[in-house]
Amino acid sequence: MILRSPPKTATWTIHLLTWFVFFSVLNPLSLQPLPVHAAPKIIDYQNNLPRKFNKRRRKSTDYIIIHSTESGLASGLRSLARGGYTNYLVARNGTVYRILHKDYRANHAGRSMWNRRENISDYSIGIELVGYHNNAFTREQYKSLKWLIEVFQKQYKIPDWEVLEHYRVAFGKPNRYVKKAHRGRKKDPGVFNFSRSRAGLTSKDKRNSVLYDPDVQAGRLITDPDIDVARLKETDGEKYAESVAALSENVITARNSAWRIAREEYNSTLTVYRFPNGTVMRGDEIQDWEKIPKGTRLYLNRQEDDSVQAVAAHVPIIKTGFTAFDIAGTSYKRSDTYYIFPKGTIKHGQQIRRWSRIPSGTRVLVKYNKPVPLTKTNRNTARKPETVFLVPKSQVLAAAQVPDVSRLKSGTLMFVKK
Ligand SMILES: [Zn+2]
Repeated sequence: MILRSPPKTATWTIHLLTWFVFFSVLNPLSLQPLPVHAAPKIIDYQNNLPRKFNKRRRKSTDYIIIHSTESGLASGLRSLARGGYTNYLVARNGTVYRILHKDYRANHAGRSMWNRRENISDYSIGIELVGYHNNAFTREQYKSLKWLIEVFQKQYKIPDWEVLEHYRVAFGKPNRYVKKAHRGRKKDPGVFNFSRSRAGLTSKDKRNSVLYDPDVQAGRLITDPDIDVARLKETDGEKYAESVAALSENVITARNSAWRIAREEYNSTLTVYRFPNGTVMRGDEIQDWEKIPKGTRLYLNRQEDDSVQAVAAHVPIIKTGFTAFDIAGTSYKRSDTYYIFPKGTIKHGQQIRRWSRIPSGTRVLVKYNKPVPLTKTNRNTARKPETVFLVPKSQVLAAAQVPDVSRLKSGTLMFVKK
């Protein structure tokens, strides 16, 4: 049997091949890659570029670089269109904005290097995702991103492993925290957050892994500490999860330095520090970096003056252009984060669906107990400095602003910090 079977198998192979060729001729599509899915909604936003913006073509197109805005849609659109800082932007609902036509060079990668080649903006298309490096992107965003990537891969013959995250190509000069040229200047779109496979980048080539870095391998740069954490994912899942959780809050701890949180922006005017004693400073105002106390919270990407006021306030306020995430960080969706809308309605993080619709002027309380009516008996717990009152007609007061709690109107609600 065994001896007689090889010729039989060979005959069958020839039969199968004949049939395969026959069907392929009959239906030529079957030999081609799967068709690209329906196009997402695309809005041309190029009219918002500055009048004097000088469009110029790229040297070549060899990479696609993925970013996250670290802001909401409104402020992302405003700041990206200001200088043509990306080619495309993908909103949380999947809508694509064309900020600058794909043929032109967008200044999106900054100081960058890949495989010895520098200034990656000269050789790449930039795509921004609205959101944060430490908060999941939406299903709709991955769908639109995948579509864009497939279209550009086809047009420019770009393999999966040359679609790269911004943090992988950016590099920084030596600073007070890292003594050599290094990876880790940028965090977007998130070592622990962005999924290559959900974006359709599923090649089995070893270069298609975020652990692959030709410049670190060659000793030109030193590695990003977050990549060392990413390495744990396969060897020690528990330690990985614990490390990611410890790094996701923007609070200074023994393991989480100002640089580790804000990276290149640690001493920038855009980074706001709120010390445990309530003092607020911008990164460019800080002199003594050795003395930053543990427990200091960082707020990133704070463009306008009033945002400092919003952060410093006893009860932080969402202002136009800022998101719940900007204030509450990764706690924004929790059931112990409360939102007091301008009209006095209260919701917690699990009750909100449309995050882009939160009105300006909404107050945010992070890690608070369920509000209770203020009574004669619970007045004493009201003395804690972090307690907040919602007085009828939607006036919000912090305990420090209320010299005499017994004078508050009946119907006042009290929020006590956990
Ligand atoms: Zn970026």
